[in-house]
Amino acid sequence: MAKRDYYEILGVSKNASADEIKKAYRQMAIKFHPDKNPGNKEAEDKFKEAAEAYEHLSDSDKKARYDRFGHQSMGGGGQSGGMNMDDIFSQFGDVFGDGHPFESFFGGSQRRGGGGRRQKVGTNLRIKVKLTLQEIATGVEKKLKVNKQVSCNTCGGNGAKDKSSFKNCGTCGGSGQVRKVTQTFLGQMATTSTCPTCNGEGSVVTSSCGSCKGSGRMEGEEVITVNIPAGVADGMQLSMSGKGNAPERGGIPGDLIILIEEIEDPVLKRDGNNIIFDLYLNFADAALGTQVEIPTVSGKVKLKIDAGTQAGKILRLRGKGIPELNSGYHGDQLVQVNVWTPKKMSAEEKTMLETLRNSENFMPKPDKNDHGFFDRMKEFFN
Ligand SMILES: [Zn+2]
Ligand SMILES: [Zn+2]
Repeated sequence: MAKRDYYEILGVSKNASADEIKKAYRQMAIKFHPDKNPGNKEAEDKFKEAAEAYEHLSDSDKKARYDRFGHQSMGGGGQSGGMNMDDIFSQFGDVFGDGHPFESFFGGSQRRGGGGRRQKVGTNLRIKVKLTLQEIATGVEKKLKVNKQVSCNTCGGNGAKDKSSFKNCGTCGGSGQVRKVTQTFLGQMATTSTCPTCNGEGSVVTSSCGSCKGSGRMEGEEVITVNIPAGVADGMQLSMSGKGNAPERGGIPGDLIILIEEIEDPVLKRDGNNIIFDLYLNFADAALGTQVEIPTVSGKVKLKIDAGTQAGKILRLRGKGIPELNSGYHGDQLVQVNVWTPKKMSAEEKTMLETLRNSENFMPKPDKNDHGFFDRMKEFFN
């Protein structure tokens, strides 16, 4: 059978633009798509014919040769137009655009990514890392011992005994995909799915690797060094790509997901990037003034307490909090002053307090500098 003219097949003139050619092919492809014409040999031939015509007219080099030499340009014969269905479908990404409804409607989405075989990806691995506030404040390098599925080191992950243990898959003929026609309320629909015999690999292993029994992977252990940046918080997740489980028989390992867990500090409470510390003074220290040592995330610091410090006063240690993740900002430590009221006293202590009870200077005299509630709030938010 003589080959029809490519322009004639697509129904366009010899001067048609690239856009016009693409548009014409799109219409033909939809009209004669095998999923719309199941079992119709004539439609399938037209579908292939149109694809072949488009293949040549959409490529400027091939088009120029075709324009000069006609079908002779492909080496004579006329029977060279052996485009298989996979080639045709893989061309669709360019013709219809990724995610075009045409593609998704017919289940063609499996062909995304250039129409090639999909890379297998291993499962993600999750691991918890407990951090102290001190580690969170500075950032820390952790060496994590992870038990996971690793690639078999005998066969290199392919699961085969040796190179001669591979055979082309008989079910799919090596393409890794099988097409199935099913009855639906829309009529017959063809779906493409991964070949169940070879799991999409296109080949089967005839004799398995002895170490991994053909799975291509084994239980293993890896020590992974993770650099945890300063400023992380409880519940955050860090992801390291390619550090998870190896998939069966080759492919890319999954990710390692590191879940941050904050170990509660007995005295330092975190509030965002600020650290809150409750300081308890006895009444004499608050009245006479003193110097105290305060724990912070970066070690102990000395803090002067002025004479006459009121309970409830908040002292701010600038920059002594947690740094904000990925920024230069540093939180503060807020020291909240509490004055401890004794609950048990000796008779002697009671007598001493009794003598002070009605003393003029012991009468409460709040003024605007007393750091009452509103003052404290203002100070807190300034
Ligand atoms: Zn193996
Ligand atoms: Zn197969």
